[in-house]
Amino acid sequence: RSVMVCGGTGCTSSDSNTIIDALNQELSNQGIQEQVEVVRTGCFGLCELGPVVIVYPEGIFYSRVEVKDIPDLVEQHLLNGKPYEKKVYEKTKQDGKILNFEETDFYKKQVRIALRNCGIIDPENINEYIASDGYKALGKVLLTMSRQQVIDTMKKSGLRGRGGGGFNTGLKWEFAAKQDKEQKYVICNADEGDPGAFMDRSILEGNPHSVIEAMAIAGFAIGSNQGFIYVRAEYPIAVQRFVKALDQAREYGLLGDNVLGTGFTFNIDVRLGAGAFVCGEETALMHSIEGHRGMPTPKPPFPAVQGLWGQPTIINNVETLANVAQIILNGADWYASIGTEKSKGTKVFALGGKVVNTGLVEVPMGITLREVIFEIGGGIPGGKKFKAVQTGGPSGGCLTEEHLDSTIDFDTLTSLGSMMGSGGMIIMDEDTCMVDIARFYLDFTRDESCGKCTPCRIGTKRLLEMLDLITEGKATMEDLEKLENLSLQIKNASLCALGQTAPNPVLSTIKFFREEYMAHIHDQK
Ligand code: SF4
Repeated sequence: RSVMVCGGTGCTSSDSNTIIDALNQELSNQGIQEQVEVVRTGCFGLCELGPVVIVYPEGIFYSRVEVKDIPDLVEQHLLNGKPYEKKVYEKTKQDGKILNFEETDFYKKQVRIALRNCGIIDPENINEYIASDGYKALGKVLLTMSRQQVIDTMKKSGLRGRGGGGFNTGLKWEFAAKQDKEQKYVICNADEGDPGAFMDRSILEGNPHSVIEAMAIAGFAIGSNQGFIYVRAEYPIAVQRFVKALDQAREYGLLGDNVLGTGFTFNIDVRLGAGAFVCGEETALMHSIEGHRGMPTPKPPFPAVQGLWGQPTIINNVETLANVAQIILNGADWYASIGTEKSKGTKVFALGGKVVNTGLVEVPMGITLREVIFEIGGGIPGGKKFKAVQTGGPSGGCLTEEHLDSTIDFDTLTSLGSMMGSGGMIIMDEDTCMVDIARFYLDFTRDESCGKCTPCRIGTKRLLEMLDLITEGKATMEDLEKLENLSLQIKNASLCALGQTAPNPVLSTIKFFREEYMAHIHDQK
């Protein structure tokens, strides 16, 4: 048997490491340590229920396991073959039977491509990745495909950037490939900064080799021999696993001077970010790698033409890259058959806020908000009513009950006044004050403004002061009007996406919850 224990950040913070130690100790006490393997995996997705333990091959899902449960769990399940009922996940119990966890509502509607392997393999063991078709796509590319064929496959698949931009990945690679320059770079943007978002962290923790493999494929496609991953220093588990995976890949000849004996050279270096939200913006990120202060500069020139140290550079986010090997292996048509006409494939979301199943989900594009929040997410806790959902983090907007049947794809979310963003999805119930929500996000962006341009540096500060006046009940109708006008000016006049999108939570809450603003205003003439 294999006993998988989640070793993602969520379960680690609820002490899953002590569960692993206790399991190994108890298996040894019972003399069955040779028959049962305990594996520390990446995130299973149901972070709400941690520490999570899954026993294979039965697929019995245990939630909120404590050290004191271990002797009984080992004795009942691993020695006597009877599930340890006390900690079996409630939703898997049906008509006196215990279902495999994949049959629960949380997992049934998911399609896991980027999260493939997360919670299934030991991310620190390259052999487990290779055994699940890992590095097969790199081999296919190097041995059987031309650079143009790789780019054409990516273009045809329809994969769009998952970091929020939504630009066609293959097209981006093609722009860089066409530059006639000796030195080019591949950057993986792992500077995930939205409050409540942890998609990229979980991929790096649960399946780091998928990102390394994709970066090498991208390097081959554009003609680059050097990659960088820019990852937040606040992600210590992700960084440690990625660095370990890099060492293993070099040892196995999958990175370095003569990859798989084909003569192709590709290396990856790690750069740690210090937690500035603005460094997720491409130009700021590149300045930071170059050793300068992480501040945006105007585009064009676009990185694909003139990026890191002035050389052609592609920047792809972690989740985007995690799709690449599967596209190469299964083909562009397979990937393009998932999702909608203009938004292909799947999207990973971090469900948070007032929802029963907080955690990480991967769903096909085109699924509705209602399916994600109520079927997969399990609805609103405590019998409360749904009020709104914020997609796109601090750059996005709030959507309401009337939007629940809208589909999740790049264009629909934008047309509704929100955005896909990188994948944070914060759900709010009837008790949430929407003015407070707007204030929370604006406080965040005001804090994270790099200060380079006036509309964002001063404007977000003034917006926050106005929201303070409103929440303190001291604002007039004129202040509300000023709030809207200034929001629009900041959007139009700011240099980078941080400032251009910072007022979105204010504007969308005014649009859909104007009555809540009015309730705070004393002079309603
Ligand atoms: Fe800096 Fe804000 Fe201007 Fe972007 S919009 S450059 S974050 S001040």
